[in-house]
Amino acid sequence: MEKNNMTTTMPRETIGKHKAVFLDRDGTIIKSNPYEPNCSSPKDVELLPRAAEAIKLLNSNSFFVIVVTNQWWVGEGYFDEQMLFKINLKMQKDLQRRGGYLDDIFYCPHRRDEECNCSKPRPGMVFDAVEKYNLDLSQSFVVGDGLVDIGLGENVGCRTILVGDNVERGDKYPEADFKAVDILEAVKIILEETKEDNLK
Ligand SMILES: [Mg+2]
Ligand SMILES: [Zn+2]
Repeated sequence: MEKNNMTTTMPRETIGKHKAVFLDRDGTIIKSNPYEPNCSSPKDVELLPRAAEAIKLLNSNSFFVIVVTNQWWVGEGYFDEQMLFKINLKMQKDLQRRGGYLDDIFYCPHRRDEECNCSKPRPGMVFDAVEKYNLDLSQSFVVGDGLVDIGLGENVGCRTILVGDNVERGDKYPEADFKAVDILEAVKIILEETKEDNLK
């Protein structure tokens, strides 16, 4: 299925809704250090092993691949939005060099005390993506290394996969639907879970 062709040749109402995987950025696609801006310049961007391979697999299985990332570093003055743009561009280029492609990157730049509607686990970024790409959340997944990612998935009605060795605790968020060692294992779960959907 060529999604680009479809959106340019058919009216929006008739194309049906697309499936997507919403990916967290820090600790899921690139390395993360939770104690300071883990990534405050493009030179800090370091892809996690198997991230490009995982994203490439999603691309070839007609999932929209969309990053949703909280970047309160911007609102709180650690670096500006232009720097964030350069960082994201570096990540996209590094992925593309290895055959993976992100369809879009949504970020929340607000301060943690702003109570905006886009900061995960709030649904704003996902809802914006649904609008922009005509997505079906019931066919979609959220993958991340943080409990906020799982909370996001719960809030928007996607299946959730927690990656890495997260040891955060708290009953604030529900259990993830699945757990995986990394993003590639998560993608394999997604392909397995959607195999039957495709046969229907
Ligand atoms: Mg993370
Ligand atoms: Zn926000």
